[in-house]
Amino acid sequence: MTKKRPKRAITANVVRPDKVEIELPISLKDLSALLAIRVPEIMSFFMKQGMMLNQNQPVPKESVELLCLHYHIECTIVDEEDLEQELVAQWEADEDEANLVWRQPIVAVLGHVDHGKTTLLDTIRKTKSPVAAQEAGGITQHIGAYVAEHNGKGITFIDTPGHEAFTEMRARGANVTDIVLLVIAADDGVMPQTKEAIQHAQAAGAHIMVAMTKIDKPNANKDRLFQQLAQIEGMLPQEFGGETEVVPVSAVKGQGIDELLETITTYAELLDLKANPERAASGTVLEAKKTEGRGIVVTALLQDGSLKKGDNIIAGRAWCRVRMMFNDRGKPVQVAGPGVPVEVLGFDEIPEAGDRFYSIQDEAELKDLLADRERRAREKAGAVEPHIPTDYAGVIKQLADKQVKEVRVIIKADTQGSLQVLKAEVNKLGNNEVRCRVIRDGVGAITTADVNLAFAERTGSCVIMGFGVIAETKSRALAKERGIDIRTHSVIYDLLNDMKDVMGGALEPEERENVIGMVEIRKVFRSSKLGNIGGCFVEHGVVRRNANVRLSRDGIVLWQGELASLRRFKDDVREVRENFECGIKLAGYDDIKDGDRLEVFEIERIKRTLE
Ligand code: GDP
Repeated sequence: MTKKRPKRAITANVVRPDKVEIELPISLKDLSALLAIRVPEIMSFFMKQGMMLNQNQPVPKESVELLCLHYHIECTIVDEEDLEQELVAQWEADEDEANLVWRQPIVAVLGHVDHGKTTLLDTIRKTKSPVAAQEAGGITQHIGAYVAEHNGKGITFIDTPGHEAFTEMRARGANVTDIVLLVIAADDGVMPQTKEAIQHAQAAGAHIMVAMTKIDKPNANKDRLFQQLAQIEGMLPQEFGGETEVVPVSAVKGQGIDELLETITTYAELLDLKANPERAASGTVLEAKKTEGRGIVVTALLQDGSLKKGDNIIAGRAWCRVRMMFNDRGKPVQVAGPGVPVEVLGFDEIPEAGDRFYSIQDEAELKDLLADRERRAREKAGAVEPHIPTDYAGVIKQLADKQVKEVRVIIKADTQGSLQVLKAEVNKLGNNEVRCRVIRDGVGAITTADVNLAFAERTGSCVIMGFGVIAETKSRALAKERGIDIRTHSVIYDLLNDMKDVMGGALEPEERENVIGMVEIRKVFRSSKLGNIGGCFVEHGVVRRNANVRLSRDGIVLWQGELASLRRFKDDVREVRENFECGIKLAGYDDIKDGDRLEVFEIERIKRTLE
């Protein structure tokens, strides 16, 4: 492990620089020294933007940029390299060419809906699984990826739920596929989603081959499909002198399956795919979910090295000591090699689909990584969310928007799927007075890092919503100590209603006036010491000491306000009822006359709800 880069020595500049390089994270104090702007000045600048920071807190990147912009300092921001990035670099550097051996290709299957993707995969699975012959009763396990065998060589198929998911994985840096198998039905031809899939695959730089399915159908039209492909850039079929392999198949009749697998293996040979099964494992998380009985279940695709039971792996924020592994047929395995998908049990948190994972064999390195992970989580929690716009138009707009209340929410859910739905629904809540902002979301239990973040956001309302997850005992304790509201639900509808409730609480309550009595001033007593006191009679209802009154004379309202005192004989009282006499002094109004009338009312504050 390389040593961490030392922090740059920061000395107080006497002259303000017009150009700086800032390495993140940076505390407000260090930023002050670097920019030669006094700490209180920076604090006051951020405060004007609605952000409270103490001098030891890290300043968010956007805020640093805004500050520099304000002081006309040109800044270049360098994010601190984290241990994980170093690990990746080291991983790549450590590869020894001499140990590389053939690895099986990884094929992603894409295509228009109903063109026969599932049927084709099922057929391959049933007939070409390495041990299918020995396993009676078919294969029921579904892990989103599985291995077929052709002439003694493996092929891994990834059942991509859609090309968006394929691209999303790629966007997260997980370019796992060697080949894209595009499924196009011979009876239907190229459809909009086929074209989209081609664009996505081409954008990923993947080699595309075509499985022309449903050739057994009477209306199958091979020639039309060839023509259509020929018109798409980069998809000219080999039959027309191009490079795209098109293999006709019928999944229902089992025709063309061998030819398809042969085409895949032949092309894979050309790719010269290599990996080192002797080294520690690395790969990509394909799917991750929390299940009832088995806890967190992760489908991991090994891309290099071998993963063994008991290995320690790190995937994004999650850590795992591999407790159990299952292959694509649901059988427990002790070890899995390059190109192989496995289900892994033993994760402490749910990683995200697309996260790279690495097996760490050195205990000291593992400790370092875990500490680094904790530190980053803490920093993230301690840091104020950068809700400062990065341009002045944005700042002005934000100030103008100040009337709008914002309820911040941290959402934790059991699966990525439910999280996506919740985020979309929660973002829809709100009106022109109150809106909702998801400041953090994730899959897994509510952790102390979540509570800390909510605490950092406490200047507004911030609530933590859990869906199908629990809050760890220490998170609950911390939330209680810090006065953070944690609400957990298992029904989306309930969670949304609860969120509406919270948002309703942020709305200014509606004020309703209830008239509770009418009083006549029958005789004014003048006192040089106390001012004018009305000798009153409660005509009906009641007058209360803390009520409001409206004074009218000849039917015209002259004043409205509160009572300074309410007395019966010499005693201060809280209320006087109908048909009784009392002495009233008004707060801040002395010009009372005999015959004036006081309408007594109370203001009821009614909590509003969000529709
Ligand atoms: P997907 O949406 O792409 O996964 O498509 P499916 O695999 O669910 O297939 C859609 C329909 O086409 C189903 O009714 C299948 O039985 C049918 N189908 C799929 N492959 C073939 C095939 O090779 N021949 C025929 N005749 N029908 C097929």
